[in-house]
Amino acid sequence: MSKIEDNFTQLQQRIAAACKNTPNRLGNVQLVAVSKRHSADRIRALYQLGQRDFAENYLQEALTKQQELADLDICWHFIGHVQKNKTRLIAEHFDWVHSVDRLIVAERLSSQRDPAKPEINVCLQVNIDAEASKSGLHPNELAQCAAAVSRLPGLRLRGLMAIPAAQASESERRRSMQAMKQLFDDLAGQFEGLDTLSMGMSADLEIAIGAGATMLRVGEALFGPRKP
Ligand SMILES: *Cc1c(COP(=O)(O)O)cnc(C)c1O
Repeated sequence: MSKIEDNFTQLQQRIAAACKNTPNRLGNVQLVAVSKRHSADRIRALYQLGQRDFAENYLQEALTKQQELADLDICWHFIGHVQKNKTRLIAEHFDWVHSVDRLIVAERLSSQRDPAKPEINVCLQVNIDAEASKSGLHPNELAQCAAAVSRLPGLRLRGLMAIPAAQASESERRRSMQAMKQLFDDLAGQFEGLDTLSMGMSADLEIAIGAGATMLRVGEALFGPRKP
């Protein structure tokens, strides 16, 4: 078995075990493979094992790989910080954007999305640990932003995304993720069609599933360590 196949199998077992321990979770847990700083060949190898959803953080790197992989039926997720001047290319080349952190970004994605294409699936990024260095909406900005985004053509508001503080302990991480679930439930009570809580990475996916994540973004556990 190749290394990547081995990783994929082990990850699926981890996810299945965590789901079994969380019988009352929101729904199925979907795996998004984070392929930043890994080659198109590695993506192709994982695709051949059945993975269809891949996420990238850096636009130019993603566009290059998308060209090399144009023959594959990949669902592309953008999870990096969105710079205002990059929204046109993101609107043209991605199916999901998890990292909408201000209204102007959503407005630009909306006006730049080709109306003939399906809507872009959007999550609002929440700065759940109020880190000065991290982008994301403050919880008390969410309802207003969601109301505006949900009215924009070309976008479909699906839910929330968070990246807990890197140095957070397991219990702090659990608390942050439970707070995200509460924010998600509040918002889902106000808006139709919200079904996505995007959180959980290689190191904390069990905690995320336990807290109610529906979408995991996993890089290193699949592809191995990234080059710096
Ligand atoms: C890199 C990255 C991930 C994946 O992290 P791993 O620890 O490699 O699983 C998930 N989400 C975001 C936003 C990332 O930048």
